[in-house]
This record gives sequence, structure tokens and C-alpha cells, in this order.
Amino acid sequence: MKDAAPQTVYLRDYNPFGWRIEDVSLTFKLAPEATRVTSRIRFAPNPDAPAQDFFLHGEDVTLLRASIDGAEVTPEITPQGLRCAVPDGAFTWEAEVEIAPASNTALEGLYMSGGMYCTQCEAEGFRKITYYPDRPDVMATFTVRIESDMPVLLSNGNPAGSGDGWAEWHDPWPKPAYLFALVAGDLRNHPDRFTTRSGRDVELNIWVRPGDEGKCAWGMEALKKSMTWDEDVYGREYDLDVFNIVAVDDFNMGAMENKGLNIFNSAAVLASPETATDANFERIESIIAHEYFHNWTGNRITCRDWFQLCLKEGLTVFRDQQFTSDLRSAAVKRIEDVAQLRARQFPEDQGPLSHPVRPESFQEINNFYTATVYEKGAEVIGMLKRLVGDEAYAKALDLYFDRHDGDAATIEDWLQVFEDATGRDLSQFKRWYSQAGTPRLSIHEDWQDGTYTLTFTQVTKPTPGQPDKAPQVIPIAVGLLSPNGDEVVPTRMLEMTEGRQSFAFEGLSARPVPSILRGFSAPVVLDREVPAEERAFLLAHDTDPFNRWESSRSLAREALLAMIRDGAAPDLAWIDALGRVLRDDTLDPAFRALMLGLPSQSELAQVLHEKGATPDPDAIYVATEAMADALAQRFEPMLDALAEQARVDAPYAPDAEQSGKRALGGAALALRSRLDGGEAAQAQFEAADNMTLQLSALTCLIRAGAADLALGVFHDQWQDDRLVMDKWFGLQVAAAGPAEAAAVAERLTRHPAFDWKNPNRFRAVLGALAMNHAGFHRKDGAGYRLLADWLIKLDPLNPQTTARMCSAFQTWWRYDSDRQALMKAELERIAARDGLSRDTAEMIGRILS
Ligand SMILES: [Zn+2]
Repeated sequence: MKDAAPQTVYLRDYNPFGWRIEDVSLTFKLAPEATRVTSRIRFAPNPDAPAQDFFLHGEDVTLLRASIDGAEVTPEITPQGLRCAVPDGAFTWEAEVEIAPASNTALEGLYMSGGMYCTQCEAEGFRKITYYPDRPDVMATFTVRIESDMPVLLSNGNPAGSGDGWAEWHDPWPKPAYLFALVAGDLRNHPDRFTTRSGRDVELNIWVRPGDEGKCAWGMEALKKSMTWDEDVYGREYDLDVFNIVAVDDFNMGAMENKGLNIFNSAAVLASPETATDANFERIESIIAHEYFHNWTGNRITCRDWFQLCLKEGLTVFRDQQFTSDLRSAAVKRIEDVAQLRARQFPEDQGPLSHPVRPESFQEINNFYTATVYEKGAEVIGMLKRLVGDEAYAKALDLYFDRHDGDAATIEDWLQVFEDATGRDLSQFKRWYSQAGTPRLSIHEDWQDGTYTLTFTQVTKPTPGQPDKAPQVIPIAVGLLSPNGDEVVPTRMLEMTEGRQSFAFEGLSARPVPSILRGFSAPVVLDREVPAEERAFLLAHDTDPFNRWESSRSLAREALLAMIRDGAAPDLAWIDALGRVLRDDTLDPAFRALMLGLPSQSELAQVLHEKGATPDPDAIYVATEAMADALAQRFEPMLDALAEQARVDAPYAPDAEQSGKRALGGAALALRSRLDGGEAAQAQFEAADNMTLQLSALTCLIRAGAADLALGVFHDQWQDDRLVMDKWFGLQVAAAGPAEAAAVAERLTRHPAFDWKNPNRFRAVLGALAMNHAGFHRKDGAGYRLLADWLIKLDPLNPQTTARMCSAFQTWWRYDSDRQALMKAELERIAARDGLSRDTAEMIGRILS
């Protein structure tokens, strides 16, 4: 069990480790219940560190022997590690430990998945493998020997030799222990090669379980595209002779960027047209890119300590977003990213889990792999680029790579590079890293004698531990349109630095219509009452695709709020304006599909709360359904033509063009199913030759209450494919009505294929329940109870996944007092368990605070 009184770690307490490591050599003798790990580490005193005891992290490892310079020593062992007297100068530490990968269900350190050995060390998993200074600022070269009768034995770096029952690897690049990886198993590879622009010939492999070889081609293409893109756009080349990717079924996260040996959740790499949707393909492409890009932003330049996590994650998410924008549609990508940010990061930033992009304290770092660190972290990089311009950004990045290659760096180092490259003072900008919460911008307009003045006021509400907020630097992209729809002032980047600030546009012949926060130039909320006619005008005329989408989205939101609060009828003016967009064949089908999407029910609950109302999940559900019915009826004449878009007359390809057409066709089919009881969906289901069409049809059938047959057919067709069966499980819960969702989820947890120890399967059912807004928030608390029951069951086995899923309860404060009481009771029931993990205890403590 973990320690009962968890320690809080503070950024301000940082101190360097007292020793440097010259090199590490590890030998693994693999056995499921008793793996022996021998380590030989050359330590030398670190002259930059204060005096300290020699302490090595180590958890759940049994020390068999230890020696210093060949002489046996007896260290003092604690639950967190060991302490030992050491010589004044350099010395060689040797230790042998025993670990049990087969009983490691937390999936941190060395564990087993489907008969193979694999590792996950970020953030603090290496200490479950052997005693070591398990902190990112201790970097060393590693030599690894693996002894096992498994046919494939992999570790970081380049192969250094192999024979019957053993293999050796050497990684010449100094790295922190969190980037260590080892894989041993009966694996098949999908091989390829890549030549870097300086001529290095790199062997590429994707390693999978036998039977999955046919699902690797897309991941391999994505890898090669990523390697080329990083050379072209950032001037970054790959630096080893081999790059290996391994697919693992049991994995807490999406994927991990271990040096030269990326380990992926199989859901984030395996794809074929028959088994993966267009959305899966796009996600795989971006995750492969993300992990590959870490080779420079994360591995060559790593983080000094875990408070700096956004240094590698914010930047790398930003880079993978740029990559997808370049390969696909920049406008569609921006809209999707902002929708994600609002769905995942805004609720976090506006509730009890709010924390700065660079947190200042934590108990369990695993709880800070959050939307704020990743997605808001990426928004901060985007703002920086917008403020300094593309050229200066490129110059600053070159300087960053030159200056910090091989370093464990900080946010201060990162910002210093921009100050040196551009001459700008970024001390105020730095607040984006230290100040939590989403700034809200209110706007006052003035029109006089040809001068149009916009006055902005910024306010950020108090967040936990931060009652007072200072003004932030906010880049506000604004364009102005004339009343006849022409753009009279093209996009201009206003730089707001004060709490209240005005910007004037002179020499205008008529009062303009403003298009504010184009491209979502900053992660803020705009508080601006805009007449519906003005939004409809922007929906029709704005040259900025993001704001065009935003206008429609705002109109939809206003219409839904009126339906929820006042029982109003659906807004036909908006629906007709939307209809003109849908009929416009000059517009990208993917963009039109996004325009058809309604605001999420969770977003509506948040807006209602902000407006002082208590959100009723049932009323929100009813209004959303009524709106979708109204869209279906109004658009009926064009639905068949739109649905026809999905039948692409070419071999299947998950590219932007084809997937955009299928997305629009799928959205039309969903509306069609509201009118025909699922008849067209049934036909599409039967004719489908790819997963995108099959799954979109099945979703429609479930919603139409006509899926009994199709669900059985789908199950029989795919019961041997774990990733497709995750979809089968998840979809039934996601598409269930509010009255049934909890019961459907409960029934599925009794299905023989519900392997709850597998994080993907657990999330497919319980994660889908948490995302089904009205179903999870069922008035009698059945949704809350079911989730809490399962979190209690999972916590002793897998604290990391349990703690993350507790965030389903993070918005408890916005609902009525009955639901609040029910949610708090479940949280308290979880918190009261004996031996609750540090991860889960911290999350519940923060959610209830
Ligand atoms: Zn990452």
C-alpha cells in the first residue's frame, strides 16, 4: 500500500540531485513472477548541488544485494526508496533487485500485457523497476541487456548485439529514466526505412501481436510523414539507426515517447478500413506525430522537473496540431481543437480542479496529465507565436534547440529564448503559465465620426489558491465588415495588456460589424450580447471560417437556451441560415458537417450555470432532441443528397477529402433516421464495407430504437477484435437515452467480454456513461452509483485510471442540491475506502474542496 499521509511536492523546493550519472548498465533476467534486474551505475558528485544524503527512489522492488566499488553495503530501506552512506568522490553502485511484472496491474514500471513484457515509466514508473534517482533532471546513457526466451527483445537506442535468449541495446543519447523502455514478446513487425535529409538510413518497425500485421500500414505512413514534416518545418532530424513502435493492449494512456522505442496503446496505432473509423485514422496520424515530435521536444530537450510538464507537452501538442493542419484542413482542425478545449479544459479551469498550466504543487504527478497542461499549454504556445509572428517564432525555436539540446529545461529557459530572439519583454506573458482560470472578455463598442472603438475588459474569476488575478496579455484577432458584407479591415492582431483597454479603427464610412477573436486567437470566453441578426450576418459573410462556425454555434446555443428556459420553439431563422451553408457545395464537406453539430449538453449546462440558472440535465436533453428533430424536418428535402456524399466513388482512403464527405453524410443520416425510424441506416449498415459507415449506421439504429438485430450482427462479426468490440461496448452506452444509459452500462459490465482490468474496455463502458450527460446525471443517482462502484473496484488495481475517471464528478457544483448531495455522497463513499490510492485520494480531495 501507498503511504497513508501523502506528501505535497512544491515547485519552489526544487534542488538538483547531489550526483551526476556517467552511465548506466542494466541487465534484465525476465520471469513473470521473479524478474531479476541488475544495475551498474557510475555516480560522480554534482558540484552544483547542495549537500544531501544519497537517496535512490524505489517502490515495490525487493533488494537482493548492493555494493559500492565492489564492497557489499546495507542501505536503509524505506517505502519510497533507499538511503546509503557513499564515498566523497566518484563511485560505482551495483544492485540486484527482484520484481514481479505479472502481478503489476497498475501498468506502471515493468508489467505484462497479453503475454508480453512491456514498460511505462513516465512519470515515476522507473522506480518500480530498480533503485534509481527517478527524476527527469538526471540524464544518462543506458546500456541494456535482456535475457529471455521471448523471440523479440527490444530496448532504447541502437541494437548492440544479440544471440540465443539475449539481446543488448545501447542508447548514446543521455536521457532521464522516464524515457526508459523494454519490450519482450512474441511479436511480428511491419518494417520500412527512412532516409533523413543528411543521409542517415533509419530502420523503422511497428511491432504487433501475431494477427495484427495487416493494421500497421497507416501508422507507418504517418510516421514517415511526421519525420519529413519535422525536417521541413522545424529542421529536426532523427538521430538513431532504428525507430521502433510497439502496440500494447493494456495501457493507461494513448502512447509514450520512450527514446527510439515508442510504446502505443493498440487503439492509438492499429487501423484498417474494416476496423477503424475515419476519426480513428486521423487520431492515429496525430498521435504517431506527437510521440515522434517528442524526440526533440521532450527527449533531446527534457523537463527539469515535473512542474515543467507543459514545456514538452504544450509545445508538442501545438506541433502535432500544426502537422494535422498542414496535412488536412486548417480551418476544420482549428474548430475541432477549440471544441475539444471547451469540452475538456474549460470545465476543468472553471471548477475545483483548476490549476495553472505550470502547477506549483502536487501530491501525485499522474493527476496533472490534464487538459490544462496539454491543450491550454498548446494554446499558450499558439498565442506566443501570434504575438511575435511566424518568423520570430522560427528564430526562437532554432535558438531553443541550439541552446538547450541535452538540457533538462524550464519554462523560464523557454521564455528567455523568445526574449533573446525577439527583444520582447515576456514577464507579463508568463502569467499564462502561473495563473489558473479562463479569462472572460467583455466588450463595449463606440461609433463616432468614422471612428469605431472597441473597449475590452478582462476578468478572471478566483480559482483554488489564487483569489486575485492580474491582467494577462491577450492577442485578440479582429476583422471588420461593412454592412453590405465586404471586409473593410482585414484581420488585425490587437494586443491587450491592461485590465481595460480600447482600440480605435479610423476612417470608416459606415458603422462596421466586428468579427472578434478570429481563429480563436486566445483561450478566453467572450461575454458579449450580440443581436441574432448580427450573428446571422457573420454566419453568412465572415471571411474567417472559425468565426463563421462560432456564429452558428452561438445562435444554436441561444436558441437551445430559450427552448430550455422558456419553452420556446426552435429558431427557424438560424435553421434556414444553416441550411444555406449546407447547400453551398463550394464549402468543404467536413466544415459543413461541423456546422451541423449542436453544442454539447455539458456545454449548455455550463452556460446555464453561468447565467445564474440551475441546469436540469433532462430538460437540456429534451431541448437538444427537439432541436435535432426540427433540423431533420426543415432539411428533409436535402438530406438524401447530403447522405449520398458518404458513398465515395473511389477506393477507401481516410484522407481529409473522403472523410469529410463521410462526416457530412453521417450527419445527414443521423437526421434522416429521425424521420424514417432507421430505414436508411439499416440499408447503410448492411451495405457498409468500412467501419466509418458501419458504425455511423449502427449509432443511428441505436438512437432510433431499431438496433437489436444490428447489434447482434455486429457482435458476431467482430467478437474476436478487441478494438472493434470496445466500440460495440462504448456505443451502446453513448447512444442510450437518459433513462436507460446506467442500466445499459450495468448490463454490459456483466457481459463475458467485459474485461474491466483492461483500461480501454473499462473506459469504453464507464467512460461512455460519464460522457452521456443526461444518462450519467439521472435524477435517482443510478449513474453516479454505478461509476463509484466500479472506481472503488478498480482503485486497488489501477490507481492512475481510477483517479483520472474521478473527474467525471468535477462539475458537481453546477447542478441542483439533490444531485449535488448524491454526487458528494458517492465521492465520500470512494474516499472512505481503506487503502485508497494516493492518486484517487488527491483527486477526490480536490474535487470536494
Ligand atoms: Zn506527449
